[in-house]
Amino acid sequence: MNNASFAALFPLGAHLCREPMPAMSEMKRDLELLKRHGFNLVKLQEHWMIDEPEEGRCNFSRYEELIAHAATLDLGVYLGLTCEQAPHWLYEKHPGCRMVRHDGSVVSYEAQTTLPSDGKPGPCYDHPGALADQLRFIRRLVEALGRFENVVVWNTWQEIGYWAEGLVGGHVCYCPNTLSAYRAWLQERHGDLDALNRAWKSRYRRWEDIVPERGARPLVCAQEMTWRFFMDQVQVAGVLRRRAEAIRAADPRKRPIFAHKGGPAFASGQDWVYARCQDFLGTSCYPAWGCGHGWDDGHRRPFVREHALLTELWDGVIHRFDHIRSANPGKGRAGAPVWAAEFQGGPVSTGFHLGRVPSADDIRRWMLTAIGAGVTAISFWVTRAEIMAAEVNGFGLLDSAGDTTPRYEEAARVGRALNRHADVFAQPTWGGADVAILINEEAYQFCSTLADGHEHLPYSVRGWHRLLWEASIPVDFLEASDLEEQGRRYKVLILPFPLSLSEEVASRLLRYVEQGGC
Ligand SMILES: [Zn+2]
Repeated sequence: MNNASFAALFPLGAHLCREPMPAMSEMKRDLELLKRHGFNLVKLQEHWMIDEPEEGRCNFSRYEELIAHAATLDLGVYLGLTCEQAPHWLYEKHPGCRMVRHDGSVVSYEAQTTLPSDGKPGPCYDHPGALADQLRFIRRLVEALGRFENVVVWNTWQEIGYWAEGLVGGHVCYCPNTLSAYRAWLQERHGDLDALNRAWKSRYRRWEDIVPERGARPLVCAQEMTWRFFMDQVQVAGVLRRRAEAIRAADPRKRPIFAHKGGPAFASGQDWVYARCQDFLGTSCYPAWGCGHGWDDGHRRPFVREHALLTELWDGVIHRFDHIRSANPGKGRAGAPVWAAEFQGGPVSTGFHLGRVPSADDIRRWMLTAIGAGVTAISFWVTRAEIMAAEVNGFGLLDSAGDTTPRYEEAARVGRALNRHADVFAQPTWGGADVAILINEEAYQFCSTLADGHEHLPYSVRGWHRLLWEASIPVDFLEASDLEEQGRRYKVLILPFPLSLSEEVASRLLRYVEQGGC
């Protein structure tokens, strides 16, 4: 397997392992099992903390053994990075790389294990020393594992984000390096302090006087909106871009580079930004991991299984892939691949509770619906049931023991069928819809600061999408900055919850209507 032969296939994969790993012999046996059933891709997840336990002393031998074994089976490898689970020596060497919460306290947490959440939030890569060490590690990893031609794709960030509020008790990052990067970005954006003061209606005397809001409640003010935009879309994007550049520089075969999110940022332009930091953006997809919302039409009606399954398909599958497909660079036949980077393969496990075991029907319905939304690659999470406590016995196409399950057989059967027509299904052949829902980042920023109204815009977008889906009308999402260039291809544009609209976007919309759009 190499890049050229892989490009002719519909990527049908499954995550094989992350730390703590099962025995090597078991993993090799599962690789052989995947191959026998027609899978052509296997996902391996590396961890910086495990792979470079002492500065400069890297050990990639287990991945090398697995990748070499995958090569003998003609399987491609999808290699995912986990740089949030950083080694202890990094924090010792650069004490200033610890993230800082909004209340000024320093995050002392260092992920010792991959769960929870792949080590998030990790160190702050605005620290120049920590950034340099991270990029050096990435180059070394790519030089070592990139020797194998059956490594076919790199993934720089598994479920992008810091998730700091839930994991370490407060938003990040307010460290001196990040604040200094924020001020430099403001300077670049506004030119001088007078221009910023005019825009914000403020009287700052020096750039150093500018500090983010740190209140408990979100505030509707320029300072708060700008800081949030910076953290969500500039700072994270900077980390993504640097990782992709490091891989590109070290990979002689120039394999595709992507990253994926836990789920799209609905109603925001964030995913359009992230998608342009590497070759494309993917997403996780767990249809049976809670779906539907109290605001959905019919949510309070008595439970009807068919309605719940429809909501699962819409909310869990098609809504998210319509969004990610639209956010990726290019459109239609010239568009980027659309990866289901983690696709639910087994029951969701949250400790004592084991969720519904997906039936063969579930798996087939989820896969085909994803394909209908333009998905061009599916990698299941995971091959064999998880072994780590928090997610133990869950998620696997296969149970803890045994060589098959009905859901595994069906995933393989659908995958083989897709591969018989890989020229159609593996290519971004989405033809484009006649209707688009307009995504306006400025409106999103504005609405997200409303104390009692921040959900109205995302759920208005959601309502429009569901309405169109139920009417069998294909839909794209169009980001407002693409309106001039791409608006003309749509007969109808929908602008949900237009509480705030800049003169610029309003005049673009006016031109669209004058040219015959509605
Ligand atoms: Zn920081």
